[in-house]
Amino acid sequence: KKKIAIMTSGGDSPGMNGVVRACVRMAIHMGCDAYCVYEGYEGLVRGGDLIRKMDWHDVRGWLSEGGTLIGTARCMAFYERSGRLTAAKNMILNGIDALIICGGDGSLTGADRFRAEWPSLLDELVSTGELKAEQIQAYKHLNIVGLVGSIDNDLSGTDATIGCYSALARICYAVDLIEATASSHSRAFVIEVMGRHCGWLALMAGVATGADFIFIPEKPREDNWKEEMCGIIQQHRELGKRKTIVIIAEGALDRQGNKITPTMVKDLLADKDGLGLDTRITTLGHVQRGGTAVAYDRMLATLQGVEAVKAVLEATPETKTCFIAITENKIVRKPLMEAVLDTKQVAQAIERQDFEHAMALRDAEFSE
Ligand code: ADP
Repeated sequence: KKKIAIMTSGGDSPGMNGVVRACVRMAIHMGCDAYCVYEGYEGLVRGGDLIRKMDWHDVRGWLSEGGTLIGTARCMAFYERSGRLTAAKNMILNGIDALIICGGDGSLTGADRFRAEWPSLLDELVSTGELKAEQIQAYKHLNIVGLVGSIDNDLSGTDATIGCYSALARICYAVDLIEATASSHSRAFVIEVMGRHCGWLALMAGVATGADFIFIPEKPREDNWKEEMCGIIQQHRELGKRKTIVIIAEGALDRQGNKITPTMVKDLLADKDGLGLDTRITTLGHVQRGGTAVAYDRMLATLQGVEAVKAVLEATPETKTCFIAITENKIVRKPLMEAVLDTKQVAQAIERQDFEHAMALRDAEFSE
């Protein structure tokens, strides 16, 4: 019987439990044994009861649970070869040669590295006497499939990551709540949202709530952004708007690569010689990550989880490591490392302030 393990890794996102549920049940449905690795790569390295066999009923009700019930962690040991060596040993001792990983680009990079090293890890385990040659016989190839769980929607090659629509819905809900009080007092609110190098959450939240102004990392405002923002908000106020909402992505920068902070924006809006608005800052923080997944993320988690198990079962030693994407509403398999490298390119372009290139890469992603 094939033994397939499922793991969640990196930052948690709504929908990860739906992924685990779908993978466990699809694996069992296909006649395989399903395992969960608890606490991300930490579980692979520490082994023991962090690698557990799962039954059909173990994941009952998981679709509507937020976070990840099998835990996730940042694992320093997995960055080291010695940690990956122990992880390989633990997998073989549990009879596992296929791993489905749901996480962000870091987790998927780690996964690809692990797969590429696998043969040499096995050789080392045998040459150092940790395992016997016959013990590794059936585990010559490590089969890995990635699923992208992230609220940031920051991975190239897929239209949506599992969790991003839940985070977006939560932001919209929070902005609606803030708007009621903003309007009552005729106040301005500067709302910081997550997203790391990616402005998707800020941009879409701005569109979905009709924000007055937004800041995203990929497309910094022109150098006169202060005058531009104040001018637009002034206009909106003159049109009778009693509330002002500015959404700022946590990674927002100006054209010189300096961080634009909520405090900077607040001070501008509140400036007595300018707009003089009674302005507050709200940092939404981890509220964006918590809570249950919206219907779209549950659907994505389930369909992609099923596809991941199919990909594992159809893989041959020659198959390139893939991840499961959604493109133009279709669930598809794509080469893993290309997407991870494309994602890194955007972050690097932003870091060296080549914003035209960053935007061109993002445009290419969405017009693929
Ligand atoms: P995310 O998956 O959300 O991007 P991280 O970048 O923190 O989050 O990655 C999660 C974990 O994946 C890390 O704690 C580490 O154990 C593993 N990992 C990430 N990058 C690598 C790498 N280059 N080599 C080995 N392991 C990695």
